[in-house]
Amino acid sequence: MTSDERALLQRRLELVNLLEGEGAVTLPAVRQALLDVPRHRFMPPETRHQAYDNCALPIGLGQTISQPYMVAVMTELLRPAPDQTILEIGTGSGYQAAVLSRLCRTVYTVERIPELTRRAEDVFRELGYGNIRTRVGDGTVGWTEFAPYDGIIVTAGAPAVPESLRHQLKDGGSLVVPVGDRTFQMLRRETRHGDSFRREEHGGCIFVKLVGREGWPEESE
Ligand code: SAH
Repeated sequence: MTSDERALLQRRLELVNLLEGEGAVTLPAVRQALLDVPRHRFMPPETRHQAYDNCALPIGLGQTISQPYMVAVMTELLRPAPDQTILEIGTGSGYQAAVLSRLCRTVYTVERIPELTRRAEDVFRELGYGNIRTRVGDGTVGWTEFAPYDGIIVTAGAPAVPESLRHQLKDGGSLVVPVGDRTFQMLRRETRHGDSFRREEHGGCIFVKLVGREGWPEESE
């Protein structure tokens, strides 16, 4: 390990300790995944020095890499297990998918902007994360080919929970999604019990818009 890598690992450890102190990380497996995934690799060179600050940052094309706090909270709400498959909508930088990939069998992740998918795929390959499958398209309608999923996570703000995603969830599985208007959302978890869904709210958040057939219309961008 070079001294640069050691310094980055040290900063990652401090960030994870901070998240634990805030109560965002409670599960040992989630702590380990956050320590294992080098967040700086998912960021453009200009902002890489801020990779271990606890904030969302621009990744270009009008999109952002989620705040580490939010990644931790959403991952814990999803509670991915080693034998599970997870669907993510909004690949973005690929960081959230990478964290999930350390905790479950396969991550399926959908992104509407091809350039972001391409960049994320490069990083997954460089890091040797072979259990992440990517797709370019409108994720508001899910990814039927591999459905149903044990868990679904939406990392963009939706006006309402996309019905297609509910349909692609296994019985007992959870869907974690920010729901609200364009500027503010509540983090919602819906857990499927047969044909009904138990709904919980887990605090406010701010995400970029989920744009698509069961999200915001394109022209609202
Ligand atoms: N999970 C990301 C955060 C991405 S920001 C990370 O860890 O970095 C939200 C992403 O959702 C953006 O890249 C945006 O382009 C994407 N997005 C918005 N609407 C979408 C849709 N309907 N389908 C797929 N991706 C969408």
